[in-house]
Amino acid sequence: MNRNFFLWGCMMVMFGCSSKEQVDLLVVHARIYTVDNNFSKAEAFAVKDGRFVAVGSTAQIRAKYTSDVELDMQGASLYPGFHDAHCHFISLGKSLQYADLRGAASYQEILDRVAAHQTAHPMEWIVGAGWDQNLWEDKNFPTNRELNRLYPKTPVVLKRIDGHAVVANEEAIRRVGIKINDAAVSTGEAQVKNGVFTGIFLENTADRFLNAVPEPSTEEQIRLVLDAAKLCYQYGLTSVSDAGISLSSIELLDTLQQQGRLKLRVDAWMEPSEENFKRFKAPYRTDRLTVSCLKLYMDGAIGSRGAWMLAPYSDDPKNTGIPVITDKQFMAYCQKAYNAGLQVATHCIGDAANRRALDLYAHFLKGENDLRWRVEHAQIIAPEDFEKFKKYSIIPSVQPTHATSDMFWAIDRVGSRLRGGYANQELKDQLGWIPFGTDFPVEEVNPVYTFFAAVFRKNLDFLPQEGFQMENAVSREDALRAMTIWAAKASFDEGVKGSIEPGKWADFIVLDRDIMTAGEREIPQAKVVSVFIAGEKIDF
Ligand SMILES: [Zn+2]
Repeated sequence: MNRNFFLWGCMMVMFGCSSKEQVDLLVVHARIYTVDNNFSKAEAFAVKDGRFVAVGSTAQIRAKYTSDVELDMQGASLYPGFHDAHCHFISLGKSLQYADLRGAASYQEILDRVAAHQTAHPMEWIVGAGWDQNLWEDKNFPTNRELNRLYPKTPVVLKRIDGHAVVANEEAIRRVGIKINDAAVSTGEAQVKNGVFTGIFLENTADRFLNAVPEPSTEEQIRLVLDAAKLCYQYGLTSVSDAGISLSSIELLDTLQQQGRLKLRVDAWMEPSEENFKRFKAPYRTDRLTVSCLKLYMDGAIGSRGAWMLAPYSDDPKNTGIPVITDKQFMAYCQKAYNAGLQVATHCIGDAANRRALDLYAHFLKGENDLRWRVEHAQIIAPEDFEKFKKYSIIPSVQPTHATSDMFWAIDRVGSRLRGGYANQELKDQLGWIPFGTDFPVEEVNPVYTFFAAVFRKNLDFLPQEGFQMENAVSREDALRAMTIWAAKASFDEGVKGSIEPGKWADFIVLDRDIMTAGEREIPQAKVVSVFIAGEKIDF
C-alpha cells in the first residue's frame, strides 16, 4: 500500500472519530431547567462517566457528541434531582414497619389502626407514629388508659407526629423503668395526674421509650433502607440530608452505597455520640456520602408545647416550653465540631431556642464566615434576631410544609408572635439563599408539596384561599433552587451536584408537567416520570 494513502486513511479514521465525541448518554428535545447561576434553560445535554459534559441546544449537542443511547424527551420538563435538605431517611425506613397514625381523625381511629397493624404484623413492642391531637375534636393529649386495657402485657409506644412526644402504656413504662419522682426525668417531660403517669412523655424522656424498642436485624435494616430509598426515588429525590444518625447507620449507608445497592446520595449528619466523634475527626466524603455536619437539639416542637419560647404559650400561660440541652453541653459539642472542621446544625423551633443557638454560634463564628453552620426549622424568630443569620452567615434551613401543616393552630400557641413564624422569604433575604426540606417522616416525602407550600402557602385543600402570611411566600425560581442547588450548598456540595452544568454529577429527573409554569391546582398532582443518578436510570 502506498504510504501516503495509508496516512490518509488513518487521518480519515481519526477525523471520523474525533469529529464527534463518544459519550454514554444524550438527552435531547427536553425542557431543561439547569438551575445554574442565571437560571438558564436548555434543550439537551451529554453525559459521560456519570457526569454532565455539555449542556445546550439539541443541534449543538448532536453536532459535538454521539452515543449509543439517545433519549428524545419530546418536550418533557427536566430538572436537577431534588435534594431534601432536612429529613430523617433512616427513620423513614424504620417507620415503614410501624403503624402509620398520620392523619387519624380521633384517638379511637389510632387504637383501631394499632390493632389492625398488630394483627397484620405482630410485634414484640407495638410501635406507631404520626398521631396529632390537633386533628381531633378533643385536642388534649390522650392518656394510656385504653392501651393498658387492650395490651396489658405488650409494651406500646406511639410517637406523636413531631417525634417530640409519645404516649406509652404501663408495660412500656415498666420495661423502660421510669418511676414517679424519677430524678432522671426533667421537669415537664412526664405528665402525671393523681400521682400516676398519664402515659404522655416528652423530649429526652420520650426518646428513652423510642430507644428501648428493639433494633431490627441487620438484614431487616437493609431491607428498610432500600425500601425508603425507593420511596425517595418515586418522588424525585436523588439526594437527602439525614438530620442526625448513629455511627452504625452511617456505616450501613456507606456499605450499601459502596456495594452499589444504594444509589441515593446521602448527606448524613452525626448524632453527638462518642463513637461518631471518634470516627469523624474531619469531614468524610465519598461519591455518594457526605459526613460533614453535627446535629444538635435546642428544644422540642410547638404542637406538643415543647418549643422553647421567650414568653409563655398564648394558650398555656405558665409554660415556656423545654430547652433540651444546657449551654455548657451545647458549647462543648460546638467546640468539638469546630475543631474537626464540621458544620453544626441545631434544631430550633421556639424564639428562645433560635436566639440561644444564634448567640452561642456567634462565639465560634465571630462574624461573616464560610463554615455554613445551620439552624434547622428556624420556626419562630423574634423580630430583632433575623439579622443574626446574616451577621454570622448562619444558614436558616426550613421546611415549607410545616407552615401549611401548623398554620391553623399555631396562632393559638403563639398569638401575634406568629408574624415572625415560618418566615421563609424573610429568612431567605438574610444570606440571599436558603435550603428547603420536609422533615419526613414528620411530613410527606413528596418534594413537590414543599414547592407548592413555599410558593402558594396553602395546604393540599388549597386553603387558606388568600394563602398564609403571603409576604413570606418565595418565587418558583427560588423554591426550585432551595430544593436543588441551595440544598447542595448547605452541605458544601454545590461544586458537584444541584444543577445541570458540565462537570457535575448527572442527577436529574423528568416530571409529567412543568411545575415552573403549571397552574396552582396542577402542581400538587405532579408525578415523577424518571430519575437518573450519575447518568444511570433508577428503577422505582
Ligand atoms: Zn428533623
